[in-house]
Amino acid sequence: MNALHELRTVRPSSVDDATRALAESGAQALAGGTDLLPNLRRGIGAPLVLVDLGAVAGLAGIDVQPDGSLRLGAATTLAALAGHPSVRADWPVLAKAASLVAGPTHREAATLGGNLCQDTRCVFYNQSDWWRAGNGWCLKYRGDKCHVVVKSDRCYATYHGDVAPALIALDAGVEIAGPGGMRTLPLAALYVEDGRQRLTLSSGEWLTAVVVPPSAGWRADYAKARIRDAVDFPLAGAAVALRRDGHRIAGLRVAITGTNSAPLVVPTLGVVGATWDAESAAVLAKAVQATANVLATTVAPVRYRRRMLLALVRRLVDELWNEG
Ligand SMILES: Cc1cc2nc3c(=O)[nH]c(=O)nc-3n(C[C@H](O)[C@H](O)[C@H](O)COP(=O)(O)OP(=O)(O)OC[C@H]3O[C@@H](n4cnc5c(N)ncnc54)[C@H](O)[C@@H]3O)c2cc1C
Repeated sequence: MNALHELRTVRPSSVDDATRALAESGAQALAGGTDLLPNLRRGIGAPLVLVDLGAVAGLAGIDVQPDGSLRLGAATTLAALAGHPSVRADWPVLAKAASLVAGPTHREAATLGGNLCQDTRCVFYNQSDWWRAGNGWCLKYRGDKCHVVVKSDRCYATYHGDVAPALIALDAGVEIAGPGGMRTLPLAALYVEDGRQRLTLSSGEWLTAVVVPPSAGWRADYAKARIRDAVDFPLAGAAVALRRDGHRIAGLRVAITGTNSAPLVVPTLGVVGATWDAESAAVLAKAVQATANVLATTVAPVRYRRRMLLALVRRLVDELWNEG
């Protein structure tokens, strides 16, 4: 670990003040710090100003709205999300995904906004400064070469967040503050499949809240493959939301993580309207294979992660179908 480089921290108390602070050149948001600070201690990133979002009024909170949707402030901790009675009752997939992030002490500090906006990861990137220097750095930071896909002009570092796929399967949207005002977009559109750029946020923009539609009629679940049963990122993960109508699939949303530079939606049109049998399982498996691009960005073998992803999706749909 390196000593932290010299930087300034500011602690705004309103959304407007935070937006002004984040619009400054070299500014970066700091939430729970469980992703950002280990990276900075490894010499990854050199923000001049950290904008601590912890004192922004109204940024933490879980509210069920009159229309039945769920509004989650970006500074809500994962522990609060995992333990909230309404979330556990009506959006259990969300409570589950939050409860599977890292370990209990991380989840007390870690926030929803930080989880969704966490950096992408790679064996050539999440290393000490001297290790990366000895390897000639990499395309994601300070270097000009990708060591995973040599000769590539884009970075393949992988997104390993647990909560985003669950929220994408629930069709959640995000609220974004920025110098141009507030805007909303579907959560899936927050991400770009490039390990270096990773988010579609413009300069000075940041996440203030997540809105999840009412869950009526849908059943959803999330599962992740990891080596240890705690404090481990998903090597591959999947969230599935399913609506069953008698003998047919009335709706199906599948989102994956730990495989690509972004959490991705798997196209399911080929199985919606059909019954869930070996034929539709094969169609869905093909769609998962076509979406996932598992590369050697972690120490776990690529083949294992690919096979686990297929097994997780199959198991989740089987269970949701049978429960429905
Ligand atoms: C040992 C260990 C194990 C871990 N295991 C997992 C795991 O299993 N699953 C998992 O998903 N994560 C895991 N993590 C990563 C991290 O702990 C979590 O993703 C956590 O939720 C990050 O939230 P935070 O509030 O601490 O974010 P921070 O570290 O404060 O910020 C993370 C990033 O998001 C940006 N950011 C923060 N808030 C906002 C906002 N409101 N708007 C825009 N940008 C913002 C920051 O600038 C930074 O780039 C692990 C971390 C460690 C150290």
